[in-house]
Amino acid sequence: MQKAYKGYLIDLDGTVYMGKNRIPTAEVFIEELKCKGVPFLFLTNNATRTAPEQVKHLASPYGITVGEKAIYTSGMATVDYLLTHYAGQTLFVISEPALKEQLLSAGFTLTDQLAEIDVVVQSYCKTLIYEDLAKATLAIHNGAGFIVTNEDSNLPSERGMLPGSGATTAYLKAATGKEPIIIGKPHHIIMDGALEKMGLLKEEVALIGDNYTTDILAGINYGMDTIMVLTGFSSRESIVGKEQPTYIINDLSEWTL
Ligand SMILES: [Mg+2]
Repeated sequence: MQKAYKGYLIDLDGTVYMGKNRIPTAEVFIEELKCKGVPFLFLTNNATRTAPEQVKHLASPYGITVGEKAIYTSGMATVDYLLTHYAGQTLFVISEPALKEQLLSAGFTLTDQLAEIDVVVQSYCKTLIYEDLAKATLAIHNGAGFIVTNEDSNLPSERGMLPGSGATTAYLKAATGKEPIIIGKPHHIIMDGALEKMGLLKEEVALIGDNYTTDILAGINYGMDTIMVLTGFSSRESIVGKEQPTYIINDLSEWTL
């Protein structure tokens, strides 16, 4: 028996699309949510796109039309968290351009001068160099805050599993002996931000995702119901003996609104 939720948090890669491949059952489900006026928010650890860029990425190639209000990334949650707890502070940011752009628009000052760094913000960065890691390490040693968008260790690609944001975090943890504040799934900060954005309570919402260690654990850790889809990363066999999702479905055609 499926529960009727007032709203849904929905992961993207592996749930709504699979890399460059479409997941038609998910596309139909999103259309149904829109037709029935059920609130939903795409919740992704991927901080490499701004909301407008993610909206474009959904429209083409996947044909999913949503507004910017339907997007919440670990980058957006990081900006919200910094505004609440570190307003007016100067940041050293290791990331793709999207996060730096969002932090600048939120009014933060970005620096690469060691003496000016109040907080190190670390995310996935394709152009990462040793000097960035050195500066971040020294700043954290000097007492700077240490905030990480997401700790996904790998990034699936056509070439295989590339190192993700979490691999850089592991490097900085080893070099500093410090534990960062981690914003993305399975941690609670992105969940707090998402519910505030939706204006719903956690009991009224279910989290739909394909990855047990990020999506499903985010829900379990937070006390929110979860729906695991088998269209992406995790399989039934991979979660044997672990705390189970509230529901497991093959794909979103099996979920009735
Ligand atoms: Mg996923």
